[in-house]
Amino acid sequence: MEYVSTRDKSRKVSAAKAIATGIAPDGGLYCPTTFPLLAQEDWKSLLAMDYKARAAFVLGKYLTDFTAEELSDFAAKAYADDKFGGADTAPVVKLADGKYLLELWHGPTCAFKDMALQMLPHLLTASLRKTGETRTACILVATSGDTGKAALDGFANVPGTKIMVYYPVDGVSTIQKLQMVTQEGANVSVCAIRGNFDDAQSAVKRIFTDKATADKLDRQGMTLSSANSINWGRLAPQIAYYISAYCDMVTRGEIALGDPINVCVPTGNFGNILAAYFAKNMGLPVHKFICASNRNNVLTDFFANGAYDRNRDFFTTASPSMDILISSNLERLLFYVSGQNDKVVADLMGRLSTEGRYALTEELFANVRADFDAGCCDDVQTAHTIRTLFEDEHYLADTHTAVAVKVYEDYRARTGDVTPTVIASTASPFKFCQSVIEALGGTVTTDGVELLNQLSSLTGVPAPAPLAALRGKQPRFDRVVDKADILATTDLLATL
Ligand SMILES: *Cc1c(COP(=O)(O)O)cnc(C)c1O
Repeated sequence: MEYVSTRDKSRKVSAAKAIATGIAPDGGLYCPTTFPLLAQEDWKSLLAMDYKARAAFVLGKYLTDFTAEELSDFAAKAYADDKFGGADTAPVVKLADGKYLLELWHGPTCAFKDMALQMLPHLLTASLRKTGETRTACILVATSGDTGKAALDGFANVPGTKIMVYYPVDGVSTIQKLQMVTQEGANVSVCAIRGNFDDAQSAVKRIFTDKATADKLDRQGMTLSSANSINWGRLAPQIAYYISAYCDMVTRGEIALGDPINVCVPTGNFGNILAAYFAKNMGLPVHKFICASNRNNVLTDFFANGAYDRNRDFFTTASPSMDILISSNLERLLFYVSGQNDKVVADLMGRLSTEGRYALTEELFANVRADFDAGCCDDVQTAHTIRTLFEDEHYLADTHTAVAVKVYEDYRARTGDVTPTVIASTASPFKFCQSVIEALGGTVTTDGVELLNQLSSLTGVPAPAPLAALRGKQPRFDRVVDKADILATTDLLATL
């Protein structure tokens, strides 16, 4: 299978090259030029498989320069039962009114990013090998919370890699910080940046574009690499769980093979929902995608009127992983709905970078509307949803998942569409204890790892094992730097 840049189709590369380089040299994102179709026979085999086999099967349709043995081996390691707390890697939980919660947070860091970041290190190291790269890959990550820990856990002690995570000193939850600073592994390091997430992100971008740093690392046998969600190696592993959820619903008799479903996703960078779009184009019968946003509702407006406009206030919300004004992966959707028109995409992205906005033509917008619906809700509605879900259905949801549930309920009321709907549940509620305790009407009386206990006693729900294990772990990293001093932190890489 061939991959091309969304901004210049003449750049054709293999899957390994797309994963090894992350982003195309023209700033575009690598996309497969065809969607591999799942035949009736494929579905029959998928129904009988466990999650690991389904993941390897779906990846095999896209990563044609990897062998089936390689992919099975990677899936066995990435989704090992001891990492995901059992064999049900991504369970589907049925609630009232057509809601099927697809829980994607049973991995080692309790966020859906584990589904991709446990797989990426295997794909990346193999891709580097296949493309002739011999230097050690140094992964730099700026995080608003979930990505940092998931990347640390995925890359810890992976031969041929080192990883350095930068987080905003006051921008992550108590539990998220504890998760990062206690990370084990000889090849990992963590550094707090004074400032907010944008400061951390732009500081990391400075490292990536600094020629002197690249040269110095090269002399020491190292090269910089990224694990962020525009890398095809992070998107591809996410396609499998939608297909797996559908198979589970069929085997449980909730639906028959071929019946339509809707998919509702709490969205930030548009990676998770785009993976569902790939699944649909492979043959998953999806009626509508419902894109859920918090108060940072740039995508809700986009799906309502066809204009993307980032010139607006930025809000800090209770669902911080969705606090984002530029949803990078939307570029890939534009590529496909325009019939793989690289000129159109390059033009729209040019406008986004110079004017901060662009508008779709009538025709393009109609193509987008055919598949997508969208909605948003604020922190008050999010908290109310957490409380009702718990009181009415005894389901404890995190803030991101609650946004999706609320947006789905609004969609169902507005349209009358009662198609069974898979809602992505993207984080354990125990990662956001303060917000969840307050949503349930409690008052936060503890701090640190004790927050887990408070939420447990309030709800009777035990904290996930990886979070409970934070108790008694010693912090390993306490470095805090000004963003101006970030370049010097790369000297640490040589010591790992
Ligand atoms: C990253 C994240 C999201 C947003 O996912 P995208 O792929 O960026 O749209 C939603 N919820 C949680 C908990 C996350 O960590």
